[in-house]
Amino acid sequence: MLDSQFEIAIVGAGMSGLTCAQLLHQAGYKVVVLDKSRGLGGRMATRRLHGTYADHGVCYLKPKSDEFQNLLHHLVDRKVSRVWTQTIHEFVDGQIRASQKSAPCYVSANGISAIAKCLSIGLTLRLNHRVSEIREGWQLHCESGEVISARAVVVAIPAPQAAQLYQLEPLKRVEYSACISAIALYPTERQAEVEALEWKGLGCSDAELGWIGIDSTKQVDPAQPSVVVQSNAAFAARHLEDLELQQVGERLLQRASEVGLPWLTSPELLQVHCWRYAFPITPITEKYLAADTVAPLFFTGDWCGGNRVENAFEAGVATADELNRRLSNRPLNQQFWTQIRTTF
Ligand SMILES: Cc1cc2nc3c(=O)[nH]c(=O)nc-3n(C[C@H](O)[C@H](O)[C@H](O)COP(=O)(O)OP(=O)(O)OC[C@H]3O[C@@H](n4cnc5c(N)ncnc54)[C@H](O)[C@@H]3O)c2cc1C
Repeated sequence: MLDSQFEIAIVGAGMSGLTCAQLLHQAGYKVVVLDKSRGLGGRMATRRLHGTYADHGVCYLKPKSDEFQNLLHHLVDRKVSRVWTQTIHEFVDGQIRASQKSAPCYVSANGISAIAKCLSIGLTLRLNHRVSEIREGWQLHCESGEVISARAVVVAIPAPQAAQLYQLEPLKRVEYSACISAIALYPTERQAEVEALEWKGLGCSDAELGWIGIDSTKQVDPAQPSVVVQSNAAFAARHLEDLELQQVGERLLQRASEVGLPWLTSPELLQVHCWRYAFPITPITEKYLAADTVAPLFFTGDWCGGNRVENAFEAGVATADELNRRLSNRPLNQQFWTQIRTTF
């Protein structure tokens, strides 16, 4: 029978939840991570397509802080991550141009979710476990009927989803923009053309598009070209409830083809994914929220400080630090990534 009693339960296996869980696990706490999905990483998501991969959430990572840069250096050393490009291009007013700011943009050759898999090494995970209720005690009730007990809980999920689990006013005030991703696969014959392009990722300031990524160029030896086209917030807001998502994806490909790649409208395979809570647009300044309860209950995520993976990472570190202080003040190894063993 599976264990149901833990010192700390963490809801959410995205960057914030996994970072927090790994730090507390390495400090010796008995930790469990629960996620409603069957995969790890949350919005750091990879779709497997006929033996190739495409990142339909996070496109790439561009570190600002030394801590996040250190994490990426270690992931590169362990061959989990690699530099994809130094230059993201822009599509503005019908023109493609190189962005002024060049800096390493990190990805993973096996898809960006490989980073989450690496961060989860050694953790007790319960995937396909949607938490539907948090009762004082703490008891986490899962949709499956399972109940997990813990001394302390960290809810590391988007604020509106957290607000459904626990009534805490500031959670309700964080607003999000949505995003729709079209994930498309093209015939092998297009490979040479794709490799000859002077750009790999294109930020779009357009009425409908936000991003075009030639995702197969993230891989070492791609089987065939894959492309991810992401909408901007306005387009997503208009189409989020559409029943014919395939048509929404076709529209995105058609708009993307206007960058001078007419064949983008004829994929071999097209999948569409809607992100209802893609980017927090009114993040809070604190790195976590703590409920006013005797047994610790924390809320965290990218919405605590920003709307990027790096913000989620920093929020996860700060939450682990504070929770540890509340529980016992064991030494926390903030350099935990140096200890991560990996088989990648
Ligand atoms: C399309 C798109 C493109 C992006 N591009 C970039 C980029 O290029 N660079 C960048 O830095 N950032 C990017 N971001 C933002 C980035 O994805 C987020 O900032 C970051 O991944 C958030 O991590 P998190 O841990 O806070 O939340 P999440 O990644 O959302 O993780 C939350 C987890 O909680 C789980 N969950 C939710 N509710 C429950 C529940 N009730 N029970 C159990 N589990 C639950 C979810 O399944 C999920 O796995 C992008 C986001 C999107 C959507």
